[in-house]
Amino acid sequence: MSFVPARWQPRAWAVRLALLASMGSACAPDPAPSDDGVVQTAHLRITTTTGNPICAGTPILLERELQRIAAAMELPLWPEDDELDVRFGRDAVAEVCTSWDPDDILGCVGSDDDGAVAAAVEVASIASHELVHAVRLRNEIWSTVMLEEGLAEILSGSDGFPYSARYPHGDPFYGPVELLQIPREDFAPYYVHAASFVSWLWETEGRASLMAYVNDPAFDGAESATPLFEQHFGLPLPDAEQVLAVDERPDAIWGAPCIPEHTYSLADGPVELSGDFDCSEPSVYGAASWMSLWPMCLEVPQTMRVRISFEADHGRFQVFSREACDAGPVGVEAYRPKLMQAGDVLEEDIAGCRHRMLLHSSEPGFPTTPYTIRIEEIDG
Ligand SMILES: [Zn+2]
Repeated sequence: MSFVPARWQPRAWAVRLALLASMGSACAPDPAPSDDGVVQTAHLRITTTTGNPICAGTPILLERELQRIAAAMELPLWPEDDELDVRFGRDAVAEVCTSWDPDDILGCVGSDDDGAVAAAVEVASIASHELVHAVRLRNEIWSTVMLEEGLAEILSGSDGFPYSARYPHGDPFYGPVELLQIPREDFAPYYVHAASFVSWLWETEGRASLMAYVNDPAFDGAESATPLFEQHFGLPLPDAEQVLAVDERPDAIWGAPCIPEHTYSLADGPVELSGDFDCSEPSVYGAASWMSLWPMCLEVPQTMRVRISFEADHGRFQVFSREACDAGPVGVEAYRPKLMQAGDVLEEDIAGCRHRMLLHSSEPGFPTTPYTIRIEEIDG
């Protein structure tokens, strides 16, 4: 089975961290790793090549993402005694994704003697992207690089970890006709354009119609995508591209930006978050380079000056805006991401917008630390 490229290096980690996948309150599989470090879920066998543990939230997140993705694509999952191998860490990517320079790639779906293997440098949107490929490959379904990568991108977005797809709105863009001509080995810079087209098709034709198209067993190379498109949607692909080019609909966000139960507001007074940052708790996920709390949001009712304090033995805390937001004529500082290390106290302006908050730690071994984060308005 062929190898499938995933997320590529050029996208900044800050962006990547903003796109991580979410968890909910779904029934949790047993998160305890076995003696050999393997964590099993109903459909996954999770390992890491790093010296860090697989945090308890990881299997919950990945199994939940797998169910969401398979349901959206209307494809069945495999029997529970035939788990998909999911490996985390840079060494895992180097071992599995041998068709690329390991420095250029963040994950892939490859294969070994036992079948498909998903590898990713870290849990979250990268892993969800690869799970999309894995579900399709396990069902022996494959359309074209453009459609597969576009689908994997938008389906990697989930609640708390949104993926933004941008539309051309009359500006020059790479449309599907051109994208179909680009071979897999050159496709890395075009993921966002593929995602734009697939997102638009989903929004305009509906999920079921999109899936009927990309799941059509008649796909046989990129050349088949054009006649199949017309067969499914009743208009030629170049005509659809012209409609997309000038469509005025707003850019699409896949996955809600904020999880309601992890959203806090400064309208209610100071925000204080505290507890144990503990990899063995289901509230923490990660398996390779960092552990993380589920993403949080901060609502700031109007632009104000704040003091943010972050107490912990290790870790970093970030507050940043990822949504379009216009809080009026405020200074650059108000929009600037607030990046803090354990022990930091920061006093800065913050724009009257909704911000994302992330707590991570790369401390080797992911030791537990108590943490307290306090955000309060101060006189400007
Ligand atoms: Zn991919």
